[in-house]
Amino acid sequence: MVVIRGATTISSDTKEEIRKAVKELLEQIESRNALKRDEIVSLVFSSTSDIHSYYPAKAAREAGFMSCSLFSAQEPDIEGGLPLCIRVMLFVEKNLTPSHVYLRGAKILRKDLAGKFNIAIDGPAGSGKSTVAKRIAKDLNILYLDTGAMYRACALKALEAGIDPADEASVVALMRDVKLDVVYENGLQKTLLDGRDVSEEIRKAPVSMAASTVSKHASVRMHLVEKQREIAGRMSCVLDGRDIGTFVLPDADFKFYLTASPDIRAKRRYDEMVAKGEQVDFDELKEAIVNRDMQDMSRALAPLKQADDAVLIDTSGMSVEDVVAAIKRAMQEKI
Ligand code: C5P
Repeated sequence: MVVIRGATTISSDTKEEIRKAVKELLEQIESRNALKRDEIVSLVFSSTSDIHSYYPAKAAREAGFMSCSLFSAQEPDIEGGLPLCIRVMLFVEKNLTPSHVYLRGAKILRKDLAGKFNIAIDGPAGSGKSTVAKRIAKDLNILYLDTGAMYRACALKALEAGIDPADEASVVALMRDVKLDVVYENGLQKTLLDGRDVSEEIRKAPVSMAASTVSKHASVRMHLVEKQREIAGRMSCVLDGRDIGTFVLPDADFKFYLTASPDIRAKRRYDEMVAKGEQVDFDELKEAIVNRDMQDMSRALAPLKQADDAVLIDTSGMSVEDVVAAIKRAMQEKI
């Protein structure tokens, strides 16, 4: 007995959608495994808890799967799970190496079958990029690359060396001898500057504006962009930044541009900093964020900008869950 697995998604919970999706999934599994219908012993379906309109097993019977035993069950409601998803296991009386089949939005469940893909998430400071990117990476089990951390590490190095971040020649000279590494521990990115873990230090307020200033220098940018492209070329990942969809990976498979009102963005940062025990003035923080965005939007090379083909999401009134779900939905629709 061999087991073949498959999954697909529907765009809305209707009887017609379920019938169509089940038929398509089973026919694809049959054809990709060269199965005859009488070789299928049983079909076991499960569907996510947002599907109520029809039994997938009934849809299979109607699609002509008459001689096998059928079963449908509902899955538990798992946070971060793919919505509107139907999974199936086929028990088959045939000696074969199974080809598992993942269709529509379910392709993202099996990155090994779907091949490598990159997700670009750009937007201004505090728009929720990094929180959402981390969640998406965790749910899809792919890498998260925080490109801002690289610019921050360069800025920290300049500040520590007493160099003005605006002085391009000195920053470039300094960067020549710097070893900047991005490593992963338990799925979390750590930024190493000359072997020292600076992941916490680079989050400090003075480093933010300095990062924006060093990021204007073309040679600093190109050096870091090269590293980012190299990582994204090797594996599936979510990258967040300012220029991922427009400049670093103009051919990224999925592109998103997150934004939110300046007040909301400043409030998010404020809450984060207060939670870390830092002293902050809300108005000063908001002004710093607005100034940094202006500098990021107005630089000559790879400014902060929405790519023409990026999906725009205004996260102002949305929870993290809402944004993650919107991104997954948009990805499913594109697949
Ligand atoms: O995202 P984060 O706030 O950590 O980024 C810090 C700064 O690094 C940004 O203000 C921006 O100037 C720069 N940056 C960039 N391009 C990226 C990511 C960050 O220019 N892809």
